Amino acid sequence: MNPWWHKKLAAVGLALTSSLIGVAALAIGSRAQSPQKAPRQNSQITTTSSQPIEIAGFSSSQAATEAQLEQKLLAIPDAARAESDLRHLTSAPHVAGTEGSHRVAEWLRDQYRSYGFDAEIATYNVWLPAPREIKLELVKPKHENIDSPEPPVPGDLDTWNKHTAPAYNAYSPSGDVTAPVVYVNYGMADDYRELARLGINVEGKIVIARYGRGYRGIKAVLAEQHHAAGLILFSDPQDDGFAAGDIFPDGPWRPLGGIQRGSILYTQIYPGDPLTPGTPSVAGAKRISATDAASLPRIPTIPISAQDASTILKDLDGRHVPRNWQGSLPFTYHIGAGRVRVHMKIAMDYRQRPLYDVIATLHGSVDDQWVLIGNHHDAWVYGAADPNSGTASLLEASRAIGELVRSGWHPRRTIVICNWDGEEPGLLGSTEWVEQHRTELQSKAVAYINTDVGVSGPNFTASASPSLSNLIRAVARQVRDPDTSETVYDAWTEHSASGRTELSGIARQIPGAHAPGEAPVGALGSGSDYSPFFDFAGIPAIDIAFTGDYGVYHSLYDDFYWMKHFGDPSFGYHVALARVLGIVALRLDGAGVLPFDYSLYSSEISRAADELASRVSQDSSESAALQPVLEAARQLSADASHEAMAVGALDGAPIDPALANHLSLALAEVEQAFLNPNGLIGRPWYKHTIFAPGSYTGYAAETLPGITEAIDRHDLAALRTESDAAVDAMIRAAERLNEVTRMAQPTSEPFPGPPSGRE
Ligand SMILES: [Zn+2]
Repeated sequence: MNPWWHKKLAAVGLALTSSLIGVAALAIGSRAQSPQKAPRQNSQITTTSSQPIEIAGFSSSQAATEAQLEQKLLAIPDAARAESDLRHLTSAPHVAGTEGSHRVAEWLRDQYRSYGFDAEIATYNVWLPAPREIKLELVKPKHENIDSPEPPVPGDLDTWNKHTAPAYNAYSPSGDVTAPVVYVNYGMADDYRELARLGINVEGKIVIARYGRGYRGIKAVLAEQHHAAGLILFSDPQDDGFAAGDIFPDGPWRPLGGIQRGSILYTQIYPGDPLTPGTPSVAGAKRISATDAASLPRIPTIPISAQDASTILKDLDGRHVPRNWQGSLPFTYHIGAGRVRVHMKIAMDYRQRPLYDVIATLHGSVDDQWVLIGNHHDAWVYGAADPNSGTASLLEASRAIGELVRSGWHPRRTIVICNWDGEEPGLLGSTEWVEQHRTELQSKAVAYINTDVGVSGPNFTASASPSLSNLIRAVARQVRDPDTSETVYDAWTEHSASGRTELSGIARQIPGAHAPGEAPVGALGSGSDYSPFFDFAGIPAIDIAFTGDYGVYHSLYDDFYWMKHFGDPSFGYHVALARVLGIVALRLDGAGVLPFDYSLYSSEISRAADELASRVSQDSSESAALQPVLEAARQLSADASHEAMAVGALDGAPIDPALANHLSLALAEVEQAFLNPNGLIGRPWYKHTIFAPGSYTGYAAETLPGITEAIDRHDLAALRTESDAAVDAMIRAAERLNEVTRMAQPTSEPFPGPPSGRE
């Protein structure tokens, strides 16, 4: 039992008596915001007939219509349907590249068709391994197998399925190694620095690292760079097992026999098909050889349970570990020095395998502007939370939108729902699709909304392009938290203020800067399908989820039973997520001038630049190299503030639809101004100069990543190159904002007149 679970039980009665429809209160949202002062939005404002409704991006008359439409949408998503969709999606394993995944894709396509969407499957053939043989055994001091499958659980029939694949790390090479073992804590950069201080060399050893603190592909690349012979990854009970709370099937946390599968593809270099970096894996595509693919790991890697890890760890000799390296297994952890030897054998079947993306389109009257929403559909086993909770919610959001069309509503922009294949092995399906459609996306897509592990508990989290942070905050004010009578926004704010952080082992969302009392929206790093849209194509993006106590990540036990007993027993959070997704879609679809907030964006950049400046010593060459960045960020803030005023002045009154459409696209395209066509030094696929996943964090975002990493490496030449790139990007963004300002000003030439720089 844990605190929120008690809260959930208490709230069941409430939910029965209170309306399940979303919040009737309409929050005030204003687009014209000064960069210094975000409006303090009151989340408890109730509308009365005398009070004008304001929704950012909508004139007063449109806002009233929009509010009615949103009320209709809020009433449609249904918990019983979400539950039965989830039961269907989790009825069999559906790993990417298998027939199970194909079947799910076809079923999803048919669902979207039944909702009134044009739905098709896009197929890509990618270089993808499947396990043929995974073997791990202790050979010294005694012989023992340490590759146990996850044990079945009484009462949960899905765990008894004989047709589940052995646990493996996707993109491990094949290999056959016998070597002594060294424990490397989390296997992150700090840990190897600590080992060096202790005089421990891992060359030729098999290193064993616990999961957590960063993407597993970072652990693999670091082990490879330190010339280890092999890598074993395990789940320590301290991180997501019994030390966190009751374990499955009595609680939501990982049992001792649970294994975290997962990819070790070096997505920090580039995601997608390793043989087609930057280009789509379509028929006839030019493919590089596997030996030339920089994203392919060279170190054999195997994931194991805490139970099997204890067999290795308890016999390790050598010095005991530093205090904070001790995990929760019941013995003192040692570094290891040779007494324990392990034999690992991995035979991977590498070949071209098909992926099936489902793309469902609802055409709007402005068909050259697209609002995209997506989630992946492939799963490591059943994937109840990851990813199918998001899919079940997305289905309900899509069905709701389809119902609105049936009742006479017509979308303004085109809505595209995407269900990606091959996310788990390395964002394959989304990356190939974005690479194929990059040009069209860059001229039409106004935003991409992602959800993944959509529901693993009650705590709302969001990451976004800063231009869209306030949009997601505003939408969260419109939806009721199913456990309480408050809004999702209020529950989100309270939870984040409580300082309780998620222990779920999937640290994708890092809280970003926010005003006191305001819900934090994180920066976009990587680890899900928004990455190709945002990092590669410069499409503004949002990633949302309800998170919670989730210890079964990437294991057999992330199944329907887990969701029904722990994650979301009432499916109320699936409904809440469907409502949030639906309203985000409606607002981005129907807004006149889309409510992108570049004042907030530029202040985020300024804050990051100031922070970097404070890290280097004054009067140094590094400090001098940063000055133009600080100056460009200041100028961008000034230009963003002018744009906000000019566009804000259009608020309230009806606006020429053609002008609104041009302004919307121009505003969406400011994000693309931040792209450097050459990409970041050493990883040209990552083109965004303002945000990227860290080269040595993997999931977590870095702001001004090229500059940050050049400072980390004390590489002055790189610092100058990356500073120049960021300055150029900010100048391009400022020019685009100034164009918007000119277009929005009443004194400008009568519209139409194509804005310069596009068409
Ligand atoms: Zn996922």
